Amino acid sequence: MPDVAAYAIDSATGSFSPTTITRREPGPTEVYFEIKFAGICHSDIHTARGEWGPAIYPLVPGHELAGVITQVGSAVTRFAVGDRVGVGCFVDSCGECEYCRAGDEQFCTGEAGTVWTYNSIGRDGVPTAGGYSEGITVEQDYVCRFPDSIPLDQAAPLLCAGITLYDPLKRYGTGPGMKVAIVGMGGLGHMGVQIAAAMGAEVSVISRTLSKQEDGLALGATHYYATNDPETFPSLQGTFDLIVSTVSETQDFTQLIGALRTGGTLVNVGLPELPVQLAIDSLGARKAIAGSMIGGIAETQEMLDFCAEHGLAARVERIPASKINEAYDRVVASDVRYRFVIDGSTFRS
Ligand SMILES: [Zn+2]
Ligand SMILES: [Zn+2]
Repeated sequence: MPDVAAYAIDSATGSFSPTTITRREPGPTEVYFEIKFAGICHSDIHTARGEWGPAIYPLVPGHELAGVITQVGSAVTRFAVGDRVGVGCFVDSCGECEYCRAGDEQFCTGEAGTVWTYNSIGRDGVPTAGGYSEGITVEQDYVCRFPDSIPLDQAAPLLCAGITLYDPLKRYGTGPGMKVAIVGMGGLGHMGVQIAAAMGAEVSVISRTLSKQEDGLALGATHYYATNDPETFPSLQGTFDLIVSTVSETQDFTQLIGALRTGGTLVNVGLPELPVQLAIDSLGARKAIAGSMIGGIAETQEMLDFCAEHGLAARVERIPASKINEAYDRVVASDVRYRFVIDGSTFRS
């Protein structure tokens, strides 16, 4: 396998620069695919900047990969050269623990646990490197197939942003007659609005301002509320069956709980600091606060098929790899509609 061009960061305070990494020759059940687009997820930024603890540097992030298979191992049965495929947040797991058997490979409790697409140690003992690169070798069971109708640039973000919203929306019964609020209108939120609306719910967006209202309504929301309006939360008391919060800044969760109906559920998929007051506010009316983290491979494939069936995809801004540093600053400033995807043809400079 030839070395591939990639972009890496060498410290928490560093910036991205071109490099070369070696991908392994595909084993019998592995495929190699050329990466056409790689999404930039906020998690990439947190990891690269050491905000979730020390990362393994040099780090090649990227866990929203979309590309085309160019090589398959001798025993690969599920894929062929030319297939349009993608990889999300993880590339391996034990396959035998109760969570893997249940299709929740992201919660693997095997000895090595879930092997993340980057910043993890692979089966071969080598640190994993993600999608900011020209290609990747992956075990076929961790690869998803993109339906033909979804362009690859708009498909890549589905593998993290899409599944992160699809899983809790489905788990908590999103459908006709349900009032669902999506908090935050970013990369995650804009997928949540589309998926919840396609599932038949009445969807509201709760965002800081009304700046993305037009997009929110176009994507399927019927109401759009700004948290900078002091009337918003008082007017929403006891309104929603389900609220999915996608924001990572610390916020007042007690207001979101207040906006739930009795018996309602607040699912947090962002990573803010949670105050203790949360427990007190929630137990009074049997309200549930839940966590959720991506989804397994089978469910990810189900989500991709659902998106194709309903004509859903991410809205993206394409950038060349040379603009990753600038893109990071813009993501942190919420200045992207709604996901940056790196053009895979620009890793080689
Ligand atoms: Zn992500
Ligand atoms: Zn496992």
